[in-house]
Amino acid sequence: MPELPEVQTVVKGLQANIIGKKITSIIEIRSGTVSQKFDSKITGYGTIEKITRIGKYILIDTDVGLRLVVHLRMTGKLIFKQQDLHRPQHLRALIEFYDNSVLYFDDTRTFGSINIYRKTQKIPSIQMLGPDALSNDFSSDYLWQVLENRKAPIKNLLLDQSVVAGLGNIYVAEILFRAQVLPQKKARHLKQYEVKRIVAETKKILPEAIKHNGTTISDYKNVDGKSGEFQNFLRIYGKQKCQCGENITKIKQAGRSTFYCSKCQK
Ligand SMILES: [Zn+2]
Repeated sequence: MPELPEVQTVVKGLQANIIGKKITSIIEIRSGTVSQKFDSKITGYGTIEKITRIGKYILIDTDVGLRLVVHLRMTGKLIFKQQDLHRPQHLRALIEFYDNSVLYFDDTRTFGSINIYRKTQKIPSIQMLGPDALSNDFSSDYLWQVLENRKAPIKNLLLDQSVVAGLGNIYVAEILFRAQVLPQKKARHLKQYEVKRIVAETKKILPEAIKHNGTTISDYKNVDGKSGEFQNFLRIYGKQKCQCGENITKIKQAGRSTFYCSKCQK
């Protein structure tokens, strides 16, 4: 599942390829992939002028006041091609541009979506998000306050997008490993220095992963169809032996795999 670094890599790829392009049509191949979130009829999609990211959401703004909100969920991919020649196998929607180039939305598992809003609309799914993991609002003071009195394991809270937006299973494992905190530790039992380390490691690991174009474990791809390389730098997720020599423990937490080293993490 794409997390913040993978989504940011997609955003960078989109910024390099589709800003300034005029949209001629948005075609839905699989029903339920694209939906318009306001009543009046769209007379034109306009030209793409800005592409940003909040958490795992991609926001594509056009000069006629529209905002395309894309979420890749489990297996969604945006693939840019100069021409609409070889459509991917799990094509769910496509955006056609005036110069015949095209952006494919390929999604094996079909959980991803493209929602079309007016730029002025409030978007409920985005309003409920906590601060983006790379924003200044995600600070150790903020996290310390949020975790106070919470009984849930720290891992579960870091996965909660209303606590911090952008993290998923892989990066939370890496962050907690480098911060030397056990994933199952109750949030309210964390020491202030541990919370500080979690935030500091988040701000270090995510940019490192972005530099390596994200992590490809199963099928994440950038807009040019290339894989990420940060899987080569993971220290705990999917590993068997810790760098300290200890075997890595794998458990399930809230139905998801958790990896930790009982020697390095307390
Ligand atoms: Zn270890």
